[in-house]
Amino acid sequence: MHDAVVTPIRIGIVGLGKIARDQHIPSLLADPRFELVAAVTRSATAPVDIPVYPTLGAMIAATPGLQAVTLCTPPQGRCTLAREALEHGLHVMLEKPPGVSVGEVEALVGHARERRLTLFATWHARESPAVQPACAWVAGRAVRNVVVTWKEDVRRWHPGQLWIWQPGGLGVFDPGINALSIVTSLMPHELFVTRAVLYVPANRQTPIAAELALADGAGAAIDMQLDFRETKGDRWDVAVETDAGRLELRREGAELEIDGRPVAVPPARPYPRLFERFAELVHAGTIDVDLAPLKLVADAFLMGHRVEVEPFEE
Ligand code: NAP
Repeated sequence: MHDAVVTPIRIGIVGLGKIARDQHIPSLLADPRFELVAAVTRSATAPVDIPVYPTLGAMIAATPGLQAVTLCTPPQGRCTLAREALEHGLHVMLEKPPGVSVGEVEALVGHARERRLTLFATWHARESPAVQPACAWVAGRAVRNVVVTWKEDVRRWHPGQLWIWQPGGLGVFDPGINALSIVTSLMPHELFVTRAVLYVPANRQTPIAAELALADGAGAAIDMQLDFRETKGDRWDVAVETDAGRLELRREGAELEIDGRPVAVPPARPYPRLFERFAELVHAGTIDVDLAPLKLVADAFLMGHRVEVEPFEE
């Protein structure tokens, strides 16, 4: 008996910015399930020896046997690229957030379904090693309240990313949606926004900070503090108070503490896990798009009380 040999999925990458260089490219190069064959970039070079093209159309035309793309561009325009890729018969992996509106992502799901292609909306924070153990622990308990503290220095983590301040760029919800992706998988009931305050710099279109209150219809209160103006140390923490103990996730789900005691978890490798999942979805011909985090952001923008704050300069 021989193990079945699975031919690697020929994949192209679109947009060679921070996340493509830090995570997508190294993960793909290390994964025998994939062959990274080309890239789309507005610059003429790639950090690895692959052909590069100025547009998705040019890459598709010049790359015979291309099967899939991973889209690492800013969220504005991501669904247009995804639709083009699907129309050419390619499987699509989307960076988070999957789009700039709930409606455009729902339409995209329809396109993928009609063409029997894989569409994978990734939520990398859910792949952090402490998140699944935390979900299992919470599942047997009644949650009383959740406090989310998501604070980072935008100048350190998002230098030069003008798109983040433009409509659809989400501002502080660009990292904040990672917290929402964790909280929506931790909580057993669907969540909804009950209050939102958005602090928007006078010279920008998206919030630099936000306060959010969510409910689950079952008595739990979720309070979130998101802030891009933190300069004294990043905080990506979720604390869950239940009828039978307290759990804390720190560093975006990389560390776990239960009732004040640290719990050992394996080292974080969220992107290799995302590509493993993408390969499974492609081979099974299925779609994985969970819109829950994006819907909460959309509702926060829909009902949020807007407070103008001092202009932001990099
Ligand atoms: P980034 O560093 O700004 O990279 C985005 C890349 O997209 C650019 O370098 C550019 O690549 C390409 N691009 C195409 N059209 C563009 C346009 N109009 N404006 C700017 N860039 C354009 O952003 P990123 O941090 O990699 O984030 C990309 C996506 O990944 C975002 O949705 C973000 O939420 C998500 N993400 C980021 C991180 C992170 O740690 N940075 C983590 C997880 C998820 P070329 O120059 O090659 O054309």
